[in-house]
Amino acid sequence: EDVFLNGRFLSPAEATLSVFDRGFLFGEGIYEVWAVVGQRIVDTESHLKRLDRSLAECGLPTPPERDTLPQILTELVRRGGLTDGFIYLQITPGAGERDFTGTADTRPTLFIMARKKDLLGAPALESGMAVDLVPDIRWLRRDIKTTMLMPQVMAKKNAVRQGLKDAVFYDETGITEGASSNIFIVTESGAVRTRPLSHKLLPGCTRGRIVALARDHGIQVHEQAFSVEELLTAREAFVTSATSLIVPIIQVNEKTIADGKPGPVTRTLQKLYIDYIHALPPC
Ligand code: PMP
Repeated sequence: EDVFLNGRFLSPAEATLSVFDRGFLFGEGIYEVWAVVGQRIVDTESHLKRLDRSLAECGLPTPPERDTLPQILTELVRRGGLTDGFIYLQITPGAGERDFTGTADTRPTLFIMARKKDLLGAPALESGMAVDLVPDIRWLRRDIKTTMLMPQVMAKKNAVRQGLKDAVFYDETGITEGASSNIFIVTESGAVRTRPLSHKLLPGCTRGRIVALARDHGIQVHEQAFSVEELLTAREAFVTSATSLIVPIIQVNEKTIADGKPGPVTRTLQKLYIDYIHALPPC
């Protein structure tokens, strides 16, 4: 099960990094995650586009392998014998003296791995999940996919300690997003509603795909923020992300959402999304 580091396929034990890497010393780095389902890499291009944008917004150097990334991802899936799982990619500026405004003396660090995981077999896809509502204490450039994930790690660990599955963030303008997902509700009329893109949330590739699939199939989509109260009283609610796909929310802290079961619109979107993935070409 090889990983890819700075131009080479290596065993995990051979893949080592400098302790001076700016990703390690400053958390200066960005990442991407792709789902792999039935040997299909989902939405390769939209994730690469977001990767380019993250690099540009952070002023990070583009690694020399950029243009061959699609082939490298495919090769990792093949070498790992992956049918189902995910690909994780991280870029940092590389290693240099510990100086905030310094630059790296090395090429940018590019690390990629493909890991096996039964994404479609996750029990929460069927049963739904209970989430913890948490004040959104993160910075205001959440549109960039950086590796600075301390607030998310803390929120998720705290949720799990309470017997909940995940965390959802809110601020004074309403629900922002899940700790590692975007969030949707279903309105009285059966339309879906999700927050419009801004610096307050990550432009999820799964979010984008679900919005497009819903509209293609005659389900109305309103890109409009919603409040905590509107989440708690929604007909249905669900989150989307590359590795979790579409997960129904059936409970928020003590409050049960609707009748506590995944709803019909969520189910329909799950089916549309999985059908969409199965129609992609395998690698
Ligand atoms: N928001 C946050 C904060 C995330 O970490 C993720 C998952 N990377 C998402 C949204 C969903 O993005 P995507 O659908 O591209 O996985």
